Amino acid sequence: MELTSLSRQQNVRTNSQLAGLNPFIDEKGILRVGGRLKHSEMAYDMKHPIILPKNHSFTTIIINQVHLLNLHSSLSVTMTLLRQRYWIIHDWSSVKRVIHNCIKCYRFRKAACHQLMSNLPTSRITRATAFEKVGADFAGPFNIKSKLRCRTFTKSYLTLFICLTTKAVHLEKVDELSTEDFIATLRLPAIISSDNGTNFTGTKNKLCELYKLIQQLDHQNSVTLFCQSKEIHSTCFASSWRVVGIEYKVYQGYSE
Ligand SMILES: [Zn+2]
Repeated sequence: MELTSLSRQQNVRTNSQLAGLNPFIDEKGILRVGGRLKHSEMAYDMKHPIILPKNHSFTTIIINQVHLLNLHSSLSVTMTLLRQRYWIIHDWSSVKRVIHNCIKCYRFRKAACHQLMSNLPTSRITRATAFEKVGADFAGPFNIKSKLRCRTFTKSYLTLFICLTTKAVHLEKVDELSTEDFIATLRLPAIISSDNGTNFTGTKNKLCELYKLIQQLDHQNSVTLFCQSKEIHSTCFASSWRVVGIEYKVYQGYSE
């Protein structure tokens, strides 16, 4: 009806949905929005977008194409992109219908399953001093300079100790992911939780060997004799023993 009126150089009816758009037919016979932007520097398609009907299969194809070309864009993004070239009557409901019928979008809209988590381990929920019970892991590699003006980078890693009670994090720099480097960073907490990394299992085996050695009476006697010969008292020995490591502490708060 509107096309007939416009092709006869007549105005559209005042009760028409297009009456407010001041429509016109261009030289190719396409119905476009007239508007008041004739002298604007905007692109022709943006100044005079093509008018499309609401529930037409061609309109659905156009909406679908824009939606797919923009990687299944959302409702608002699809509408914004369409409005750069087209004026769809009641575009919100038309675009919503197309996106609602899109199979891929439907699949991604589905709520993800939530796994029922098991009970927390005792070490996570019982009172303990800071870093008495820790989780250990490695991060990296990081490229670092050993000196300030050094040009070459060397590869380094970080050992993370996460306190299971306070969630505080202690970081230690190590050069390799080896058992020896991990042992060098240890401050001997009561419980260490980790994955099955070879350096962690290696540390566990070495600490077990050390524990067995300390339990042997012969070894205890030889240590006592050595300390007596050097005039080292047992209390002094216990308080002065430190694991060799790098004095480099950063507390980061909760980080899990
Ligand atoms: Zn989609």
